[in-house]
Amino acid sequence: MCGIVGYSGNSVASTPVLEGLSRLEYRGYDSAGFSYQEMGELKIIKKEGKLENLKNEVEKLKPTSGIGIGHTRWATHGAVNDLNAHPHGNEQFSIVHNGIIENANALRDQLKGLDYKFISQTDSETFLVKLTDEFKKCNDVKQAILNAFKCIEGNSAFVIMHKESQHLYAIKRAAPLVCGHSSETGAVFVSSDPYALIGFANKIFFPGDEILCVCSADNKVQPIEFYDIEGKQSNNYKLQEKELTLDVAQKGTYEHFMLKEIFEQPELLNTLYTRYKTAEGSRALNNIVKNKPRLINLTACGTALHAGMVIKNFLEKHNNIRVLVDYASEFRYRNQMFGKDEAGLFISQSGETADTLACQELCKENGLQTYSIVNVEGSTLYRNCDENLLIHAGAEIGVASTKAFTQMAVVGYLLSQTLNGKFESEETKEELHNTANAIYEVLHKEELIQNIAKEIYNYKGFIFTGRGEEFPIALEGALKLKEIAYVHAEGYAAGELKHGPIALFDEQLVNVAIVTPDLYQKTFSNAQEVKARRGVMVIIGEEGNSELEDISDYFIGLNFNGVEKLRPLVINVVLQLLSYHIAKFKGTDIDKPRNLAKSVTVE
Ligand code: GLU
Repeated sequence: MCGIVGYSGNSVASTPVLEGLSRLEYRGYDSAGFSYQEMGELKIIKKEGKLENLKNEVEKLKPTSGIGIGHTRWATHGAVNDLNAHPHGNEQFSIVHNGIIENANALRDQLKGLDYKFISQTDSETFLVKLTDEFKKCNDVKQAILNAFKCIEGNSAFVIMHKESQHLYAIKRAAPLVCGHSSETGAVFVSSDPYALIGFANKIFFPGDEILCVCSADNKVQPIEFYDIEGKQSNNYKLQEKELTLDVAQKGTYEHFMLKEIFEQPELLNTLYTRYKTAEGSRALNNIVKNKPRLINLTACGTALHAGMVIKNFLEKHNNIRVLVDYASEFRYRNQMFGKDEAGLFISQSGETADTLACQELCKENGLQTYSIVNVEGSTLYRNCDENLLIHAGAEIGVASTKAFTQMAVVGYLLSQTLNGKFESEETKEELHNTANAIYEVLHKEELIQNIAKEIYNYKGFIFTGRGEEFPIALEGALKLKEIAYVHAEGYAAGELKHGPIALFDEQLVNVAIVTPDLYQKTFSNAQEVKARRGVMVIIGEEGNSELEDISDYFIGLNFNGVEKLRPLVINVVLQLLSYHIAKFKGTDIDKPRNLAKSVTVE
């Protein structure tokens, strides 16, 4: 899940490596490290905490080496501390690792038996030690890497530096890894994401699985060579020469990226339609519509899964297409009985979510058409799917996703409207226009929401409820609060409360109840049932509804006129602001909440 960046060339390596790592910090940020060569030796600087801590250390030592590898960690094995931070190294090698070595314990036992000592608790170090052992036997860096890699189980990417070489060695299995080359400076790069290399490299190489990449700035003819697992030269890679532009996101006047991203939503939503009217946008939509599937297997994780549930409601209600929504981490291991005319739809902001990628592969292998709803153009998911619906959300920096959710759901709405031949209709334009306006209205209620947050942020827990179209929003609201405010929150279908969770209610538990005109009486009754058990009622409902207001401790009234289908998205913005302000009162790290990473590239 980490971010990896490597550089070899004529400049000081720490500059592109640290710059690249700062662009990749979204992949993990519990510790960071940098390794470089100095007087024939490998040196390592590593620090627990944010990248800033590493930058300060590097600044003190000012290494001038022209080769270096760096890493931002999202710990899977071993505590978050300086020792377990990457790179890991010894006399011969420095390595950085992304992923999980599933047979690490067995390897460690085996290597300890050969009298090797381990310094860290990480799984990654077993690769380093195995590599060293293999090198001892063959005295050939390339061969030693291939031999060691063959012994590793699970999905991983490694970048390796040897003390006597100016080469960067990289190899991966089902983990993101790219190599780069600058025709201008001759420098070579490796990274977990092309985004880190924008402005540094003009050629990006995407190697296949189990392909060893040998990157050498000295090799003018072929700066990046590729070898298969048996060591034979290979052309199992893709080259991308399209220049990517750096989307430098700034907070502007906002205190946090998350708040800025919440406020960007109406404008992004407004422009999405125009983007889909272009040749490229409408081509993707129309191609999906051409093969209209009978059933869609929709998989995603976290917030993207909740957006998927919103999309399921559109497609089932308005297009009569059955949609099975599943957690990607469950779907991939279930016995799937695919039938005729089924398609796979995969949703991911980064396009690098490991479980979602595995589901796409599974569907593809079974002959299904595969489609993505994705933010990052050129990501693995984007490259692997038959068609891609880009959400055009721009860079989302806040780790807790906000604008990506809204854009994903709106793309789903556009797909639904296209399937019904209504993409160009007034109805579609009006719905989008009205939704953007309704979200503006919610944003104008920020002060009211902030005041409510101030009153409730210390309660012991939160249960979010909604029915039908609003059920995914209840789930998403609870997820957002957990992510950034570190309080216990659950989302429930309102009708489920009496089957268990209602036992939790007392005057210390908050019910954030979404009560809309759909199934109004039923949802209203559910709210009354909680009220009768002394739960603290925060109700989101239609403006001017006095009976709802009467049973609320705090009421947020919204105007639902003209937002027939996209109403859940409007309500979701209320919950985004509520979570944001609760987190602010709690004083948490809103843009980089503890234990999380933006792109989840481990299973
Ligand atoms: N499994 C390794 C660790 O825990 C790598 C984690 C990562 O991808 O950041 O250190």
